[in-house]
Amino acid sequence: MRPEPFFAGPGLDRADAARAEPERIAQFALSPLARELLWRDGLPALSAEGALQWREVSDPALFLGLDGDSPRFSAFQHEIAAGPAAFAMLASLSAADAPLYAAALSLARWHSHHRFCANCGGESQAVRGGWSRRCAGCSAEHYPRVDPVVIMLAEHDGRLLLGRQHHYPPKRYSALAGFVEVGETIEDAVARELKEEAGIDVADVSYLASQPWPFPSSLMVGCTSRALGDQLTIDFSELDDARWFTRDEVAAALEGREDAPFLPPPPHAIARTLLEHWLAA
Ligand SMILES: [Zn+2]
Repeated sequence: MRPEPFFAGPGLDRADAARAEPERIAQFALSPLARELLWRDGLPALSAEGALQWREVSDPALFLGLDGDSPRFSAFQHEIAAGPAAFAMLASLSAADAPLYAAALSLARWHSHHRFCANCGGESQAVRGGWSRRCAGCSAEHYPRVDPVVIMLAEHDGRLLLGRQHHYPPKRYSALAGFVEVGETIEDAVARELKEEAGIDVADVSYLASQPWPFPSSLMVGCTSRALGDQLTIDFSELDDARWFTRDEVAAALEGREDAPFLPPPPHAIARTLLEHWLAA
């Protein structure tokens, strides 16, 4: 079965064709069905049930898309909360609203950090309903960035390699991960990161699933691989530790058993999805 990580899903109809027609977006904003995303403390506001909250449109700067006949907008945000405040909210965010949460958060943050043209330094303006910015000075058009990150399991003889980053809570182990560099395939990035961080060579790298991660604009590319050996050489500047775990140990962690040798990644992280998939396979 194809795994479905948190934040995955179609979200809204992005209505791409309308983005090229500013008058159509202006009409959408006047619709009695139009709604504007409510923000609180630099993040999309959530109801007690974890749903996004909406209000009458007052500042339709960003056209998020269509929910049936209801056009959805967001105002620009000047202050976006940093990761830790947002992570705390994820536990209550509804899975159905998660894709739109991710899109709105990444898009609003991109605008708040990219007001000026990277080509000439002039001030740029949002166009295409907020899905790009155009420079008034040199006409360059800039698009919201997406940063691909590979996150991968390596298996050797029925055991799984997991590691700890320095900022993890005590006992947490998770899949190793790293940014894809320019000029690199996903497969090459997986092999390079595992070699750099854990000193192992891998083969049979396979794509499993992906997940938008809006802190600020990553696309997590979940992969599996087969390690050619189990001798680890850990880069302690990157990792606190890395270890091989048996199937029973991973099962104990995911079941939250008291005797589990590690704490698994949280349910909204694609690393958790990868572990669950590996165990079920
Ligand atoms: Zn410019």
